Amino acid sequence: MSEKHDGFMKALKCRECGREYPLAATHVCEFDFGPLEVAYDYDRIKKALTRASIQSRPRTMWRYRELLPVAGEPTVGTQVGFTPLVKADRLAKALGIRELWIKNDAVNYPTLSFKDRVVSVALSRSKELGFETVACASTGNLANSVAANAASAGLKSYVFIPSDLEHGKVLNSLVYGANVIGIKGHYDEVNRLCAEIAGKFGWAFVNVNMRPYYAEGSKSQAYEIVEQLGWQIPQHTVVPMASGSLLTKIHKGYQEFIKLGLVGQASSLSYHIHGAQATGCSPISVAQKAGLDFFKPVKPNTIAKSLAIGTPADGFYALRVMKETGGAADDVTDDEIREGIRLLAENEGIFAETAGGVTTAVAKKLIASGKIPANDSAVLCITGNGLKTLDAVVGHVGKTREIKPSLREFEAMLASEEKVSA
Ligand SMILES: *Cc1c(COP(=O)(O)O)cnc(C)c1O
Ligand SMILES: [Zn+2]
Repeated sequence: MSEKHDGFMKALKCRECGREYPLAATHVCEFDFGPLEVAYDYDRIKKALTRASIQSRPRTMWRYRELLPVAGEPTVGTQVGFTPLVKADRLAKALGIRELWIKNDAVNYPTLSFKDRVVSVALSRSKELGFETVACASTGNLANSVAANAASAGLKSYVFIPSDLEHGKVLNSLVYGANVIGIKGHYDEVNRLCAEIAGKFGWAFVNVNMRPYYAEGSKSQAYEIVEQLGWQIPQHTVVPMASGSLLTKIHKGYQEFIKLGLVGQASSLSYHIHGAQATGCSPISVAQKAGLDFFKPVKPNTIAKSLAIGTPADGFYALRVMKETGGAADDVTDDEIREGIRLLAENEGIFAETAGGVTTAVAKKLIASGKIPANDSAVLCITGNGLKTLDAVVGHVGKTREIKPSLREFEAMLASEEKVSA
């Protein structure tokens, strides 16, 4: 393992026992089945990655490339990231908090969800390791992103999804020419099958054998939030949880920026990370609210299909991050999710998918209960686009009023509505 060949990575390291492994396509420790994670040479990174070097680079997630697990230059998804951080004054007022920001990955490039971050890392690394076929087990957005990014990279792709996903999510994989395999079962069954397929076929499964690299891509969201806030960590970050990976990587991203001396104010060194789930699939939030360190698996039943993982791979670590940072979790019903989608749309002009409704509605609950104090400042991680989950809001938004192309009809319509509201 020459330094040059592995970039700034040192090894894969077991999160449980610390044993080190070569930087191959592997994800579990042979001794205790602990998950493997990428370890870096932070001393070398500190010399290369400064505020000035970051700011001199293009506005993509790759401006932090020393902290992302590729050996050479990235080759897939080079335009991904640096999504807007929107100051959400109207939504802040509606939720009753002093200051609120939206990290808007609903407009991430190219497939409109935060999954483009993890996929650009996973596919760049897959190419470095010599793979020609990439695959994933997905609740929808990951399949879209693998399909699109594989197409642009000239890689063959197989994406495995529960067969009852939203039409928008299915079409958004098929259009890129991916092999889309619908499994008659929940995501957890899809995932189990993919573990077997990954063991048998020589493919790069982005969230199975490539998971240590893939998961690191989520850290870029944390780096961007800190830079966009003027090198400060927000007091509160609200993160939707499926496997729980994004939440743990936001924490890791903040910690790395502190370690590298990139965070400005000492006041932002203590922060809280909160987790959001749908009540119909809430193994992590139920455990957090009960003060438990372990979750109990569930069978998902919610309109927030992108978050419907009943056996979350990183649930244990997500619980630990919330405990360490003094964060809280909560969950919301399908009706509250739709209300969350509307709150965000009507106040900020941002149309999020169901996961965004979950995050917004949970933030509302946490602010109302004082777990996020009204005088503080918070960032909501909005992770996916509403145009992909239209099924969830059909019939729950206003109606079109139809009239003839006549000024008189329009005036009559306004007059009759004024009468009703008067
Ligand atoms: C995958 C996904 C998440 C959460 O992913 P984790 O498995 O917890 O990292 C959140 N929002 C959307 C829209 C997603 O597609
Ligand atoms: Zn181990």
